[in-house]
Amino acid sequence: MSTNQLHTYLVHVLGCKVNKYDGQQIEQLLERYGLDKTDQSDEADVIVVHTCGVTAAAAQKSRQTIRKMQRNNPLAHVIVTGCAANDELTQIDQDPVFRVPAGADWLQRLAEQLDSLAMPKQHGVKGIETDTFTISRFNDHTRAFLKVQDGCDIGCSFCIIPQLRKEPRDKAIEDAVREATALTEAGYREIVVTGVSVGLYGRGRDSSLAEMLRNLVKIPNLGRIRLSSLHPGELTEELLEVWSGSPNIMPHLHLSLQSGSDAVLHAMRRGYTAEEYYNAVERARAALNNPAFTTDVIVGFPGETDTYFDESYAFCKKVGFSQMHVFTYSPRPKTMAARMGQQINGAVAMERSERLRDLGETMASDYHRQFQDLEVEVLVEGVKDGKATGYSEHYIPVEFQTSENLHRQLVPVQITETAALGISGVNRL
Ligand code: SF4
Repeated sequence: MSTNQLHTYLVHVLGCKVNKYDGQQIEQLLERYGLDKTDQSDEADVIVVHTCGVTAAAAQKSRQTIRKMQRNNPLAHVIVTGCAANDELTQIDQDPVFRVPAGADWLQRLAEQLDSLAMPKQHGVKGIETDTFTISRFNDHTRAFLKVQDGCDIGCSFCIIPQLRKEPRDKAIEDAVREATALTEAGYREIVVTGVSVGLYGRGRDSSLAEMLRNLVKIPNLGRIRLSSLHPGELTEELLEVWSGSPNIMPHLHLSLQSGSDAVLHAMRRGYTAEEYYNAVERARAALNNPAFTTDVIVGFPGETDTYFDESYAFCKKVGFSQMHVFTYSPRPKTMAARMGQQINGAVAMERSERLRDLGETMASDYHRQFQDLEVEVLVEGVKDGKATGYSEHYIPVEFQTSENLHRQLVPVQITETAALGISGVNRL
């Protein structure tokens, strides 16, 4: 490894919105040390791979990415951070320079490591607090992700995240408001409020996610706010009240279901029944403007019989999701579910996930059809070959013809066509 002064960095992020937010913190930290960003791994002096370990496939992809970066640039300082940074999940023959596992003070620990490198600017770790080191932009993204919460202790039996991200912790409301204000001033028209289990925000303290939103919607010139994944137990009346009273907050709930069978929900230790989940959906439908429900569902969980799967399938149909992410169960180390008997055969799980995906397409098509001839507002994420694409308030993919560069703008679009994969229309600007 060269001891010459370093000049450039590359950050490669795998995984979820929370990881993407962390990736922005890492970029802004490396720039604070005087490094410049490059997109070419063979030009980077410092390469950070921010890993994901939520499934076996994700950990495998993280391992492959680390190896690829080492191969592309043997002289680079390769640093491994994120959920799969512990070598149990990303064991590789040539160990990276540093591993900085996730956890409360991960950014300080990363800074401590960076301090030992030949950086253009030496800062020392003073002043670097993981939860107060806020971002002011979101490179290569039209929507900015704002992490307000980290960690989880809900303890779903299949989930490795509590082991990796550790105990729940919150960002102070004033820090989140400062960050969202900077992102709004930087031109971001949509901010996605996220966390590992964002609905845990404020638990055990005299605060709540509703209180966080009450403060965020006061930001001048704020565009859209979208909430990321919620656990059904976190959809409080207080939250629905703030939501229904704030036009900035989009009528789209990602309410994570995981299974529609009570027996499987019990084995998953999700902490609710299908009926309780449905009550939460009904309460949201009563409070909000025809909200869209998107969700995550696992198939092939240990002990999921044909009957239980049919219950889950029928329940998803009853809710009428606008989008469903279907995952095949992936045993994770040291989780309760991995030690359970009755592990499901891969071919059976595959067949079930295909059936559920087909149902998802049918439900999406049904949900999109109701927007025929209506006007929606689209945040344009890209314009290519005269076609603009982006998402509506209800998180529906929208496309329309345009000759202008409307990137990052909110555009009214009259819908003329609907389909399973999205809707299209005419620009009304
Ligand atoms: S709520 Fe459950 S699935 Fe989500 S991070 Fe926590 S333990 Fe994992």
